[in-house]
Amino acid sequence: MDEASSGANNAHNAELEARVRERTAQLEQEVKSHQQTIQHLELVNRVMERVSHAVVITDADNRILYVNPAYEKMTGFKLKHVIGKKPSISKSGRHGPEFYRKMWDALHHDLHWEGEIWDRSEDGAVFPKLMSIDRLVDEAGNTRNFVAMFYDLTQQKASEEEIERLQYYDSLTTLPNRSLFRHRLQHEFEVSRRQKTRVGLMLVNLDRFKQVNDTFGFPVGDQLLVEVAERLATTVRRTDLVARQESRRERDPDIVSRVGGDDFAIILSDLKQPENATVVASRVLETLSQPFTVQDEAEKIDDIFLQASIGISIFPDNAENIDTLIRVAETALTWAKAYGGGEFRFFSESMNKNSAERLRLESDLRRAVKENAFTLHYQPKLDVKTHRFSSMEALIRWPRGGSIVSPADFIPLAEETNLIVPLGAWVLRQSCQDAMALSRRIGQVPGIAINLSARQFRQPGLIEAVRVALEESAIPPEKVELEITESMVMEDVEAAIKTMHALRELGVQLAIDDFGTGYSSLSYLKRFPVNTLKLDRAFIRDLPHGTEDAAITEAVIVLAKALTLNVVAEGVETRDQLTFLGERNCAYVQGFLLARPAPLERMPDIFFDGFL
Ligand code: C2E
Ligand code: MG
Ligand code: MG
Repeated sequence: MDEASSGANNAHNAELEARVRERTAQLEQEVKSHQQTIQHLELVNRVMERVSHAVVITDADNRILYVNPAYEKMTGFKLKHVIGKKPSISKSGRHGPEFYRKMWDALHHDLHWEGEIWDRSEDGAVFPKLMSIDRLVDEAGNTRNFVAMFYDLTQQKASEEEIERLQYYDSLTTLPNRSLFRHRLQHEFEVSRRQKTRVGLMLVNLDRFKQVNDTFGFPVGDQLLVEVAERLATTVRRTDLVARQESRRERDPDIVSRVGGDDFAIILSDLKQPENATVVASRVLETLSQPFTVQDEAEKIDDIFLQASIGISIFPDNAENIDTLIRVAETALTWAKAYGGGEFRFFSESMNKNSAERLRLESDLRRAVKENAFTLHYQPKLDVKTHRFSSMEALIRWPRGGSIVSPADFIPLAEETNLIVPLGAWVLRQSCQDAMALSRRIGQVPGIAINLSARQFRQPGLIEAVRVALEESAIPPEKVELEITESMVMEDVEAAIKTMHALRELGVQLAIDDFGTGYSSLSYLKRFPVNTLKLDRAFIRDLPHGTEDAAITEAVIVLAKALTLNVVAEGVETRDQLTFLGERNCAYVQGFLLARPAPLERMPDIFFDGFL
């Protein structure tokens, strides 16, 4: 080997060595970085295992690559079962396509979406979660992965509800508190302005409640308040609201003296007349005067007697804003308490007078029902074609102190006091018997129309009462027609339709009274199993000149024919009205022109004579 070649060889070796060194270093570096990556991944994995948020990673096709243990725990879906599937396996069906379209839009444009979403867990339970999704892209902008993170919102939602409960409900009695009460009162003002009705505000305060607390202690006092709240809530109508103003002691436990803890307020919605509050007020005083039973630490204490006073103000008569309405009710409450309490007072003197009259009327009505002091008058119905009377309507009369009270004045009272139930049953039985008595005089069974009141119609015993009346009188059921009004039906249409069918099954006919004054919904009318429409007097009054009334009358006659219903025009007082109706083929008419309501004894003559 010459020197030159050995030199070249050495250089080559050195280069090789350097390359090997370099490569070794490179490899070492790579191993190190690999180790680092592994350490990194381990770290990431450790974090993923521990975070409380659920994490889902999917590929570009949105197929699941990985879910963390928090995900498994929250949803019940296990990694090995969801791998390769789409996250939509947990869709709840609570969100429409629009929701998901917005989500994908955001992911497409902003690479990010965040929001509340309801999903399903493995056992089918639906729960709310707060979720954020990121779309990861490569340099060219192609999707590589989606990473979603979320946590369960159930707890948070529950505590929001709890917060709302605390905000709007009194913690001791669970009645609405002052804020909800004010909200509701404002709302009722608006409804009442629209519907031209009134709103009653009753402030109820227990008399000498401080003494009760001093004698028995606060725990007993609190139990009494809870019981009072329950009694109040069950005494008012479903649509009314009972609220309580909590005492300062409850709001701030450091205050030992009780201030105003026995103040309750009742909102009476949809009052037709101020005096209607009388019935509720007397009922409230009556329920609170019943003895209470409570539990002391050691023993049961029976027969604690409470007494309450009530101040009443009426919107809009007494005031048109909340604060004034409350203030005047407070004034009325002071008057109620002035002579020892235990009574109620209106703010207006005239209302107090009317209310006293109202109370007298109520007790008289109660007695009249007990003593059966009512009579029935009958108003025949004319068949326009034959000019003969074929049926009659029973109209109740109450002779009271030398005059006769109109049903328009006492039927609403009978409803509020529930006296309508025995009263209505009596009308049913008596009128069916009277119709049969008349049949023996005129040789044929006349049709008999009987008015039902709203409460009577809703009352479960109605079907039985009708059945008894039919059976006792032995009247052919098809001769009996029950009159109901649209507003009675519209309150709960489905229940009303059921009742109507049950009545039709007894074989009786049904008529809609005062047709045209209520909702007159044609789509419903089609579903009602009724036989007759009685066109209200209001449309007949100005015939034949009132052009609008004439048009409505004609339309109803045509409509009735189309639906194969009978039509009766009410309140016919003139020949012109009768001619107008006859020309338009109105089948039946009723009114003072043809016959005024009269006692049964007058009916044979009227039926024999007919109308010429
Ligand atoms: P309604 O069923 O629409 O009865 C028609 C009312 O109009 C009756 O008044 C009748 O006397 C009156 N009337 C009849 N023809 C004419 C007329 O040509 N001109 C005028 N101005 N009035 C006429 P009434 O007897 O005072 O009854 C009023 C309402 O009281 C009845 O209206 C009905 O809704 C209700 N009612 C009457 N009797 C009973 C009953 O036994 N039970 C129930 N629940 N309600 C009844
Ligand atoms: Mg009627
Ligand atoms: Mg009528």
